[in-house]
Amino acid sequence: MPELPEVEVVRRGLDRWVAHRTVADVEVLHPRAIRRHLAGPEDFAHRLQGHRMGEPGRRGKYLWLPVEDTGEAVLAHLGMSGQLLVQPHGAPDEKHLRIRVRFTDALDTELRFVDQRTFGGLSLHDTTPDGLPDVIAHIARDPLDPLFDDEAFHQALRRKRTTIKRALLDQSLISGVGNIYADEALWRARIHYERPTAGFTRPRTFELLGHVRDVMNAALAVGGTSFDSLYVNVNGESGYFDRSLDAYGREGLPCRRCATPMRRRAWTNRSSYFCPRCQRAPRTSS
Ligand SMILES: [Zn+2]
Repeated sequence: MPELPEVEVVRRGLDRWVAHRTVADVEVLHPRAIRRHLAGPEDFAHRLQGHRMGEPGRRGKYLWLPVEDTGEAVLAHLGMSGQLLVQPHGAPDEKHLRIRVRFTDALDTELRFVDQRTFGGLSLHDTTPDGLPDVIAHIARDPLDPLFDDEAFHQALRRKRTTIKRALLDQSLISGVGNIYADEALWRARIHYERPTAGFTRPRTFELLGHVRDVMNAALAVGGTSFDSLYVNVNGESGYFDRSLDAYGREGLPCRRCATPMRRRAWTNRSSYFCPRCQRAPRTSS
């Protein structure tokens, strides 16, 4: 599953290679990739043909391309294995090519949606006055968004009867923080994942948000370096995750701060990784 930094890298690629181009035609090679567009592949193609793409937007892990002058937007669902590629016309079709978008200009490139497992796809939606596809209007801003409101997030944490990792993964409070980033940021902040949010002080909330941003920006910096060519790609893998993780996936390995063996605990249907010494469990955890 791609995390926010990978999706942001794709957004930047689309901004550079696809924004402001006019669609010549759309070829749907596998109807499953359009299944979220209920009116079907022909309607999808018809609504794009002859229209200019606007500047791509992202909220959390959601990515979209506005269609200029129709008030609609193409929402990309990357699923587990979805990729958006900008390829030269002559490049051989990928084995799992699902959708091809050609443009009217003389540039020699087309947009391709490739998806091995077809959990992902593209769909067209009306947009809100903010320019968001209406189906994601309830998703909160992510912490890299300049308009993310730290104080409002802190107040929401205090009001909610929840625990901190649940809150970090609650997309109505904050978006784009996946399981991996939550564990990394909590380790950096020395906070146990089951800590109730009601007792959070403002400095503690702000420090944690700072760590969330640091972890995301570090991943973004790595993802961004592989992307200076004619290629937009996301595959859910990131070199960052192999090299730079301090908590996630490190069960039994020494904590990089205090050398205590790291632990893994089942958490909802996933895992939480933490240092039992740096991140003390709350006494009243349920
Ligand atoms: Zn430790």
